[in-house]
Amino acid sequence: MPYSEVKKPSFETVALHAGQTIDATKSRGVPLHRTSAYLFDSAEHAQNLFALKELGNIYTRLGNPTQDVLEQRVAALEGGAAALALASGTNAIFYSIINICNHGDEVVSSSNLYGGTYTMFNDILPQFGVKVRFADPNDPAALKAAINEKTRVLYTETIGNPSLDVADIDMFASLSKEFEIPLVVDSTFTTPYLLRPIEHGAHIVIHSLTKWIGGHGTAIGGIVVDSGTFNWQNPKFSLYNEPDGGYHGLRFAQDLGDLNPLAFILRMRTVPLRNLGGSIAPDNCWMFLQGLETLAIRMERHSENALSVAKHLESHPDVSWVRYPGLEKDPAHKLATKLLPAGAGGMVVFGIKGGREAGQKFIENLNLFSHVANVGDAKSLAIHPASTTHSQLSDENLISAGISGDLIRLSIGLENIKDIKADIDQSLKSV
Ligand SMILES: *Cc1c(COP(=O)(O)O)cnc(C)c1O
Repeated sequence: MPYSEVKKPSFETVALHAGQTIDATKSRGVPLHRTSAYLFDSAEHAQNLFALKELGNIYTRLGNPTQDVLEQRVAALEGGAAALALASGTNAIFYSIINICNHGDEVVSSSNLYGGTYTMFNDILPQFGVKVRFADPNDPAALKAAINEKTRVLYTETIGNPSLDVADIDMFASLSKEFEIPLVVDSTFTTPYLLRPIEHGAHIVIHSLTKWIGGHGTAIGGIVVDSGTFNWQNPKFSLYNEPDGGYHGLRFAQDLGDLNPLAFILRMRTVPLRNLGGSIAPDNCWMFLQGLETLAIRMERHSENALSVAKHLESHPDVSWVRYPGLEKDPAHKLATKLLPAGAGGMVVFGIKGGREAGQKFIENLNLFSHVANVGDAKSLAIHPASTTHSQLSDENLISAGISGDLIRLSIGLENIKDIKADIDQSLKSV
């Protein structure tokens, strides 16, 4: 009996099975397709594929059967209509913005972003005539005040990096509805296991696959999931309603017929991906599929270990403050209770007594934690953002991004919790 006959599969089941159709080889594992190009059946077949009259494989820059399983599986886990996997999370964010915004359009975004995203929004998008207005995600009035007739994207992260504020996705969704602008959510820190933004009214969900979905620190990749529910026929979205020079005059919101709900992902594949080339390697897709198989049980343990570490740090004499959305005293706890009932994720941040200098020493004296610029590995990781990931930000921008000199960022792994706590204790003691 094929998987397609399974009635209402649960998250864990979808993560193991969705998107794979058993092929003629009867491979149980998802086959890894290492090829650059695919044979056309006929001249007509080739013509139909290029005209989007038929969907199928053409060239691996545009897609690959291994990638297709990954895309279908993540779309199913998020409750989306379609997905596109890309070379990195950063690439996924960039293509999402340029797949909506034309020159002169604007973005309204949460201010507490992943460092690379902040730089993309603040310094690089303006090169293309796209202005980004930042507002405090906890301040609906400020977000609303930043929206104007040029706004085409409302953007947030589910859990802000690195201050770990939880974004009120329901509030963002109501602004998105009121102003008829798509809500784009970077859900990397929560993964579809902890939060499914589409269920709360988001339209586009982005993940850095590099983090918890891959889960083992072995590959870079990103993915964009489209809910298929946004009305791109609103004429203010010029990229969807005017003939597209990037795809022989097609109007993506008008000319696709039955494929209309897939307009966003089809455009991203055929315009930005096809012509800018940020494609993901089939090998990386295969690794991310391995990660997805165990995502549910890993996220449970990441969350359980992180909560335990956060509670431990809360009462530690060398620690001045701790943030973890799962802590009862945390400012984000109320939102975490509403949005993250299955767990608050693997990230913990805290302030070390002694500030910047003590922070750097603490990182150096850790034995079990790895000092790397990454999160979401099965192994525990630590970093001091003010001197590394966010070091290109001015002092003023550091404050608006929620980063103080004493802030230590921990990505809590799957080691035994006793060993994790013992390593933190010995390093705090040595400082
Ligand atoms: C890592 C990360 C990114 C960037 O993803 P890459 O795969 O490293 O390009 C974007 N957003 C968040 C929240 C991240 O953690």
